[in-house]
Amino acid sequence: MIALYHQFPEMREFCEEVVSCEVAENGCFKVILNNTAFYPTGGGQPCDLGTLNGCPVLDVSEEYEGAPIVHLVKSDAPLNGKVTGVIDRERRLDFMQQHSGQHLLSHCLYERFRSYSLGLHIGAADGYVDVVNDGSFTMTRELADEMEREVTAWIARNEPVRCFFPTDEELEHLPLRKKKDEHENLRVVCIGKDEAVACCGTHVATTGQVQMVHILSWNQSHGNLRIFFVAGQRAVNYALTRIGQADAVAKLFSCGIQDVLPMVEKTKNQVAELQRELGNAKKELAMGKLAQIAPISTEKGEIYVAELPGADDKTLKDGISALTKSHSKAICLLAAQAGEQFLLSMGLGKESTENAGTLLKGLLSVFGGKGGGRQDSAFGKSERFDAEEAKAILLSLLNA
Ligand SMILES: [Zn+2]
Repeated sequence: MIALYHQFPEMREFCEEVVSCEVAENGCFKVILNNTAFYPTGGGQPCDLGTLNGCPVLDVSEEYEGAPIVHLVKSDAPLNGKVTGVIDRERRLDFMQQHSGQHLLSHCLYERFRSYSLGLHIGAADGYVDVVNDGSFTMTRELADEMEREVTAWIARNEPVRCFFPTDEELEHLPLRKKKDEHENLRVVCIGKDEAVACCGTHVATTGQVQMVHILSWNQSHGNLRIFFVAGQRAVNYALTRIGQADAVAKLFSCGIQDVLPMVEKTKNQVAELQRELGNAKKELAMGKLAQIAPISTEKGEIYVAELPGADDKTLKDGISALTKSHSKAICLLAAQAGEQFLLSMGLGKESTENAGTLLKGLLSVFGGKGGGRQDSAFGKSERFDAEEAKAILLSLLNA
């Protein structure tokens, strides 16, 4: 008996006899019908969902090829007699579009590179097909675009898709993309005159229903190429979303959509240039402030403390380096606000016998935060900072 989902892939509603109904976990029943239009998970295609007598069908599976198809049904009472099944058509059409789109893509890759398809996976957002590629070709965006154009030509021709169980004689004359081993119930999917492949999935009736195929990305590993794609309404939605985003960007730049790319590139370069200039200006400002620091002279050395607004950690380190090089007994602390925190950088002149790491820890015990370092330099982040308070803390630490 040929399954209803194979005989009538367009079927939305059907009526069949319950053969068995067993209690399953979580208030569910495992229902086997005389025949079914629910496609069970298999061949990379997720199962159909829908209802049986109005009760939700949560899963449809077939333990092995030819085994009874089990519907997992959430129901208060067991089902028996004749039941009405209703298929979630939107879900099914989506899968048929993905599956048929994959056939077209696989056909194009086979025609061009004699590359066989190994398997399909249809996920919730996208799908992928694995194809053999021992290095004879390299997938690029240009090649993906070419494949998409070839698939689009198939779609435009609106070729019929025929799924059937051929006789041995018919099988002899079919241009099968991939020869199968001897198989009793081989189901073949033919598209137009040139494409034929054994497949158990559900497919659209004509290539026009595939609507569109878009290759998203790919990765090559161990002689296989995995191609991620979207087809059908998924591809249309994907394209419409991207067009909307591109339009919005064009609006932001007050330019036509054809000018968006050069505009973004130009702006990116301008931003990089401005960032360089800003960085230099901040550094200049910070270094200017360094020259104005009035050090506190102590027996242990001169204490230099300053907050350098807008400085980053590199500027602080450069500042420390400039001070410690020109003052061999200097004990330097530079700080800069970074968001909610303050960056703290400490450094000692080469004749200083103090320990920068210890001094910084002493400061952090008052200002809060984390940090550490070596004898001659230390770095940290504090929760707050005040230059006058820092000077007082350092004085008391040095006199301790
Ligand atoms: Zn198929």
